[in-house]
This record gives sequence, structure tokens and C-alpha cells, in this order.
Amino acid sequence: MDPHMVHIRVVHGDVKIFPLEGLCFLRRHRKPTLCIQVNSAFVVYCTVGMHGSKTESTVWRKRQGQKVWELLSAMYPHAKIALQYTNPWELVVAVILSAQTTDKKVNEVTVSLFRKYKTIEDYVRVDPKEFQSDIKQIGFYKSKTQHILAAAKIVQEKYRGIVPKTMEDLTRLPGIARKSANIILGVVYGRVEGIAVDTHVARISQRLRLVPPLALRGKMKRTFVRSGVEILDYIKDANTETIERELMKVLPKYIWFDFTYRVIDHGRALCKAIRPACLACPLKTICPASRVEQT
Ligand code: SF4
Repeated sequence: MDPHMVHIRVVHGDVKIFPLEGLCFLRRHRKPTLCIQVNSAFVVYCTVGMHGSKTESTVWRKRQGQKVWELLSAMYPHAKIALQYTNPWELVVAVILSAQTTDKKVNEVTVSLFRKYKTIEDYVRVDPKEFQSDIKQIGFYKSKTQHILAAAKIVQEKYRGIVPKTMEDLTRLPGIARKSANIILGVVYGRVEGIAVDTHVARISQRLRLVPPLALRGKMKRTFVRSGVEILDYIKDANTETIERELMKVLPKYIWFDFTYRVIDHGRALCKAIRPACLACPLKTICPASRVEQT
């Protein structure tokens, strides 16, 4: 059988071979590609054309990143952080509260919270039970109370009330991981050390193959069927630090900060986790995970 015309699947140890028709997975070639599926994760090799080996090469991802950036910039030119705050410490509080909670919910709670707690000393002195009841509308309010009050103590005692300015120091604060530290550094100090990867960035950067699925580990693979072929959508439990590292390899540093907020806006507007609105999406012609049937 001509290897350019087959689709090989290895499912539960069995190798299955199917005829492959239509365009290359990434629509870069008119001829079919050799497509190997291992436990739902598609690995697409271009066996034709100028690329020779993997389609998801760094060179390809850099070009893809440029196109994605141009389209997202046209769609969401004013994208910015949605959390509300009036000083660096309030941003730290809002970012800790936002873990697994919508920014809208956090903003509802912080309106009265920031009115009640005006200085970092207020957070250091408050009784944890009282603080818990002030934020109890937010998920994980008990652990978030612990994190916020412990972080306030550290910032007060170790940094004389000034929110730390380095990734290393910020990620030592309870409740602050790389994503939050990237946000705080970028928004408060204009320092860009990485790319903040939230749930939208993790999902959409995989759909657009800015991150190669092979680089990611994770068991919760989401797939969909297009033109009768099962295609990897994204890996839900992929490691966000790996995603960040892969994005940093292919996106120029000057876009790292804004990239996050444009992708987040796109995730909220069209590229939702369930049923993305691909027909209305200006990225559909370059998106390997587009649900639009290929012609
Ligand atoms: S085409 Fe669909 S999956 Fe791709 S970016 Fe647009 S909405 Fe998301």
C-alpha cells in the first residue's frame, strides 16, 4: 500500500490502517499525508512537499504564530486584564482569588473587599474567620484566605509592604504560581519574563498547534470528528509550564504580554471549550482544529 495514501492508527496495541483522503491535516499540501494516531493523539507526518518530516516543526509554528498574532490583534486590539484593582497588592489579592473562578465573580467580590481592607496591614491583622466570610462567595475560599493572609505577612515583613519584582520572589508567595507571577510582573512592573498560560491559552494554543501535542503529557485528551476523521482537539490536563515553554520558543518576546489577553478574549468570544464557533472564526482557515469541513 502506498504510504502516502494510508492512515495508520495504533489503538490499544493494535495497528490499524485506513485509506486517507483529502488534504493534508494542516492544509499545506494538496496530497494526503501519512497520519499516525496513537491512543487518540494524532501525529501527522508530511510525507510529501518541501517539509519532509513533522508538520509541527518549530519553523512552521513560528509562521503559524505570526498569522495567529495578526488575526487576533485585528480582532481584539484593546484586550487587557479584566481583574479590577487600584494598587499592586490588590492585584495580588485579585489574582489569588481568580484561581478556578471567573474574573467577573472576583470583581463582584473585590468591590466591597477592597473598600473594607485598604492597606496591607489590614490583611495582616484580620481574623481569618472574618476574611473567610468576606470572600465566601468564591470557590476554595478557605485555602484562598490562607494564601492571601500568609502572602500579606510575607510581603509586609520581608519586602516592607512592596510587592516583589522578580519571578523568583513572587512564586515564593503562597497561591502565586508562574501564571500569576507573569500577570503581576507584566501588569504592575511592565516586566515580561514569560507568557501567562490560563485555561484559554492552554486550550487555544493547542488547537492552533502553536504547541505540538507530542510535547505534552496528559491523559484527558479531547477529540472531535471532521470529515469522518478523529482529530485531537486539545489535552485538558496538559502541563501549563510546558505549554508556556513551547510558546516562548515560537512567539517573539515583544508579543508575550498581549498574546495572553488576546487569546483569553478569543476564548471568551468564540473559541469556547465546548462547541467553539468555528464558522464565525477568522482563524478557521489556519486552524488545524477547526470544525469547518474541509473541501
Ligand atoms: S477555528 Fe474554531 S477551534 Fe480554531 S481558533 Fe477558531 S473557534 Fe477555535
